[in-house]
Amino acid sequence: MKARSSAVCALKLTAHAVSERVIPIIAQPLGNLPLPSLVDGVDALAGASLKDRLQRPLRDLRISVTDRCNFRCSYCMPKEIFNSDYTYLPHSALLSFEEITRTAKSFIALGVEKIRLTGGEPLLRKNLEVLVEQLAALQTASGKPLDITLTTNGSLLARKAQSLKDAGLKRVTISLDGLDDAVFKSMNDVDFPVSDVLEGIAAAQAAGLGPIKVNMVVKRGTNEQEILPMARYFKGTGIALRFIEYMDVGATNGWRMNEVMPSADVLKMLQSEFSLVPLAPSQIGETAERWGYLNAQGEHEPHLGEVGFISSVTQAFCSDCNRARLTTEGQLYLCLFATQGYDLKSLVRENQDPNALTQAIAAIWSQRADRYSELRQAEKDSSNASADQANTTRRKVEMSYIGG
Ligand code: SAM
Repeated sequence: MKARSSAVCALKLTAHAVSERVIPIIAQPLGNLPLPSLVDGVDALAGASLKDRLQRPLRDLRISVTDRCNFRCSYCMPKEIFNSDYTYLPHSALLSFEEITRTAKSFIALGVEKIRLTGGEPLLRKNLEVLVEQLAALQTASGKPLDITLTTNGSLLARKAQSLKDAGLKRVTISLDGLDDAVFKSMNDVDFPVSDVLEGIAAAQAAGLGPIKVNMVVKRGTNEQEILPMARYFKGTGIALRFIEYMDVGATNGWRMNEVMPSADVLKMLQSEFSLVPLAPSQIGETAERWGYLNAQGEHEPHLGEVGFISSVTQAFCSDCNRARLTTEGQLYLCLFATQGYDLKSLVRENQDPNALTQAIAAIWSQRADRYSELRQAEKDSSNASADQANTTRRKVEMSYIGG
C-alpha cells in the first residue's frame, strides 16, 4: 500500500488486538483547505489580541519536524502499516529550518509564546540543534524569551540533551509507557529497553532541561498495571508524570473505546495508595489537569511533585485551546482531530513577504471555530455504540504526521 495514494482500504489486524478488529488504512493528507482571506475587522498585525470565533487566542505552536520515528507504538505508528512499504515524506517536502523559523516568526507576531518541537521522533531530524538555536533567538511579541520545548521518546536523549540545552532548548517532555521492560517493549514494538529511556531522562535532568514531564499513554488491557509503579518511581523526583487517555487520533491504530482507561479510573487507582489534591492550572489552555501529593499531615507538599491527566476522550478541553500545529511539510492544522489543514508551505516558499504569511495565519485563526473533542463527546454521550465505529472510520490525519 502506498501511504499517500488516495485509496481507502482495510486491513485485518490481530497482533495487538484484544479481539479481532478492522483497521481502516487511510491515506494522508486529504488535501488542503483553501486559504481564507482576511475578513473585515481583523488586523493581522494586532498581535496578541488575535482571537478565533470562540474567543480563543493563539499562544502555543507545535511544530512537527519529521514524520519518521524509530518506535512502532501500536497506538501511534503500528508496524503493520508503518513498515518498509510505507512512503515517508522526501526531504525536499519538509520545511527547512530557515522556513520553519520564518513561519514561527509569523506565529509569534500573532501571539505565540510557546513552541513545542515534535514529530514523528524529533531527535531523528538531523542537526535539530540548529533549528533550536534559530528559534531560541526569537522573542515573544511582548519581548519575553520564547518557551521552547520538545516531546521525545527519549531514545536519543542521552546523547543529545546537553547539545540541545546549549542550543537554547528550555525543557523536554519524554514519553514512557511503563517501567516493566516486557510491557514497554511490547508497546514500542521495536524491543527498546526502559533503561535507555531512563538514561535519557537522567541526561535531560543533568543538562537542566526542566521542569521535565513524562507522558504515559494508558491503554486498558495493556499497561494499566504500570500506573502505580510509574507514580512511585517519579514521585519526589521533580518530574511530573502525566497520564494520557488513549486517543482516537489517526486511522491506523484500531482505536476502541473499551481500551481507553478514563483518567477518573487512573486517579482512583492512584488514590488507593497516595493522597492527592487538585491543583490550579499553571496557565490558561493547559492540557493536563494537575494533582499534587499530600504529606502525612494532609498538606500539599510541592517537593513531592505532581501528576497530571490529559483526558481528551472523557473530558474535552476545546474551550480554551490555544494551540496550532505545523506539519512537517508546512500545513497548518487547528486540531489534532482535524481532517484537513491549510497549506502554508507554498506561501513560505513562493512569497518571501513575511506580512503575507502573517496575514494568512491571522485570517485562518480568526475564522477558526472547531471543537472536535467537545462535539465527539456530546455525540458519545447522546448515542450508541455506532458512534465509536463511525469515529474510527472518519478520515483523520495521523499523529505521527501532524505532530503529537
Ligand atoms: N516521538 C515523540 C514521542 O514519543 O514523544 C513525539 C511524537 S508522539 C506522536 C507525541 C505523544 O503522543 C507521545 O507522548 C505519544 O505517546 C502520544 N500519542 C501517540 N498516539 C497516541 C494516542 N493514540 N493516544 C494518546 N497519546 C498518543
